[in-house]
Amino acid sequence: MKSTGVRRGGTSAEVGCALSRPVPWRWKDAFRRPVGIRRDGRRVVRPGSATGECDRRAHGDRGAADAYDGVRSHPERRMRLSKSRFTAGLQCARLLWWRVHEPDAPELAPDETRQAVFDQGHRVGAAARARFPGGVLIDLPHDAFEQRVTATRAAMDGGAPAIFEASFVADDTFVAVDALERRPGGWRLVEVKSSTRVKTQHLQDVAVQVHVVRGSGVPVESAEVMHVNRACTYPDLSDLFARVPVLPEVERILPGVPGRLRAQLAMLGGDLPTVAIGLHCEEPYPCPFQGRCWPEWPADHVRRLYFVGKRSWELAANGYTSIDRLPDGMTLHPAAERQRRALRLGRRIVEPTLAVALERLVGPLAVIDFETVSPAIPVWDGCHPYDPVPAQFSCHAQEADGAWTHHHWLANDTADPRPELIRRLADACRGARTILAYYAPFEAGVLAQAALAFPKLHDPVQSILDRIVDAHPLVRDHVYDPGFNGSFSLKAVLPVLVPGLGYDDLPIAEGQAASRHIERMLFGDPPPHGAERRALRDALRRYCERDTLGVVRLVETLRTLAAGAAGPV
Ligand code: SF4
Repeated sequence: MKSTGVRRGGTSAEVGCALSRPVPWRWKDAFRRPVGIRRDGRRVVRPGSATGECDRRAHGDRGAADAYDGVRSHPERRMRLSKSRFTAGLQCARLLWWRVHEPDAPELAPDETRQAVFDQGHRVGAAARARFPGGVLIDLPHDAFEQRVTATRAAMDGGAPAIFEASFVADDTFVAVDALERRPGGWRLVEVKSSTRVKTQHLQDVAVQVHVVRGSGVPVESAEVMHVNRACTYPDLSDLFARVPVLPEVERILPGVPGRLRAQLAMLGGDLPTVAIGLHCEEPYPCPFQGRCWPEWPADHVRRLYFVGKRSWELAANGYTSIDRLPDGMTLHPAAERQRRALRLGRRIVEPTLAVALERLVGPLAVIDFETVSPAIPVWDGCHPYDPVPAQFSCHAQEADGAWTHHHWLANDTADPRPELIRRLADACRGARTILAYYAPFEAGVLAQAALAFPKLHDPVQSILDRIVDAHPLVRDHVYDPGFNGSFSLKAVLPVLVPGLGYDDLPIAEGQAASRHIERMLFGDPPPHGAERRALRDALRRYCERDTLGVVRLVETLRTLAAGAAGPV
């Protein structure tokens, strides 16, 4: 059985509700399983249970809310909703329909990136539970709904100060509350998020829970979103979470919840609904079914307009689907304006300004690139949640004779990588007069943050910052090729401007994957060992090296293009 991991460990992964998958209903199995609750890590098991072990893996690690199904395998059962289904349905009826009627759709299987987000959410959830002393976890199979509800009642009656995964059913809807906290006048419902602020969609999420919990006869006197607090600074994790009261906002939403639930249930009883594509395909979460609903965007479609963002939907809705037909008076980013000209001309544009821009690159050059890790729960001094910390660098440094030497370093244990990385990077860049990085503000930002955490690193960091130049605007502000497809990322421009030098031949071919693998190598449980670890380190080295080699070759190409640029087009 495949895993969704949406609510593993009792925490809502930030993108979870768009990706979760229900499991087939196993009514009898559910009643065979033991009822167990865990208090402070100790298991409490109902008599008759052999071990009380929760069998989450057997259920694909799915959250209870997402396992609340049975529609396909038991069509005679009533159609039922869950918290995550409800919020999915608010985003798009078609998305909800597919989630319910095609639970095994390949689009719903989490890829490694999504799984990493879920895993991070689970770690945040575990840390959040530690903030509720004496809390009891409803630690039961995710599809043992009735048992979960019964165990929740038992925990409430037993005086538990807080209940994790507190489970309720009302209005044909199941919810498992991250934390239900006992209060003098009733209960406080707490929704844990791994985001760093309260978002609009969180309110709907809380609203359906309050509706179901109150509908179960439980007085909810307050509700909070408990999110990660960016102000928290390692090693003091006492303020890792911020708790934001949201009940007043939720009360305004609540009157509409029953009608929405009824509408979703009615929709699910019919055929696949027709829904026009639009901004809702991307917000609040990227829909996993874009591949089914979206066409293959032509090269000149406004979806591919540089820097257009959400505006592309507005343009398309107003009949502007082709970039080259956008009216001349329409204000565009200068690079998008060049993109439009290039599409109209049907060829690459190289501005004569490129030559002047390249004059900034006084040799010898060095080209640097970092790969970072960004733990939600910081682990190194001075770090805040999600701070990017460099754990790997690649540097191509030019010698006096113009030849290039490659330098590389990759962390290999859980020690703070910044002192060693910066020492080695400073050495590698010692002879360079200009240090290039593609998206240099990122490299500069993580270096500056490292210098704040380690004052002794100030001088080598400042020396690098004094020489750093961003390579990205060299392309974005002076060159457009229709092959860029509206992107100036290195992955987009390199194969076009330096044919034969792409990323397709690499086992790790993009930055998110690199970060994920580094995190697994450093903090995995267990981390990779032996041949696997060596292969992983080699793959990471090759990926990071390709980024800096790519910029080396890119600059050579830009110089050639600048020499050939006759004048403005
Ligand atoms: S791609 Fe868009 S229209 Fe299609 S299911 Fe997803 S949100 Fe709905």
